[in-house]
Amino acid sequence: MEEILKNLPEKAKDKHKENKKFFATLRKKPPKHLDAQMEELHYEEFEKTDCLSCANCCKTTGPLFTNKDIERISRHFRMKPSKFIENYLRVDEDNDHVLQQVPCTFLGSDNYCSIYEVRPKACREYPHTDRKDFHKISNITLQNTSICPAAYNIVEEMKRRMKT
Ligand code: SF4
Ligand code: SF4
Repeated sequence: MEEILKNLPEKAKDKHKENKKFFATLRKKPPKHLDAQMEELHYEEFEKTDCLSCANCCKTTGPLFTNKDIERISRHFRMKPSKFIENYLRVDEDNDHVLQQVPCTFLGSDNYCSIYEVRPKACREYPHTDRKDFHKISNITLQNTSICPAAYNIVEEMKRRMKT
């Protein structure tokens, strides 16, 4: 996995132009059963992906914390939401609550998430490749191909299977 993660940014950069063109066509004319196709691709890829040997999303890019996430996680720590924010979060340029630092404070050295049961919605859904109306988040997916090996493989497989 180490080698895969080391080479991923370069591989994603090489495919960037091709992927950008593919997503532009996809946005213009999304296939009829895109959601079902994405669900299948996502499922197939994550069947063979071991996130515990990777954790690159938790190490390099933090999630957004919604108010619901903050309430749920603070409750888990028996902490006031304001204290949780003060201890762990900051407000970014888009006015969203994000982690003060990456790798994520809640990531263990064994790549387990110490707040897995109550983790933010964005962590549960990452890399969003089974999201409804997937073509609408293609810019995020383009970025994710350089962070997440599964997202990279899903996009490669999409291009093989889909004629847009
Ligand atoms: S979601 Fe992607 S980046 Fe995150 S641990 Fe799994 S394979 Fe790695
Ligand atoms: S909260 Fe858990 S799943 Fe989310 S980034 Fe941190 S360690 Fe990863």
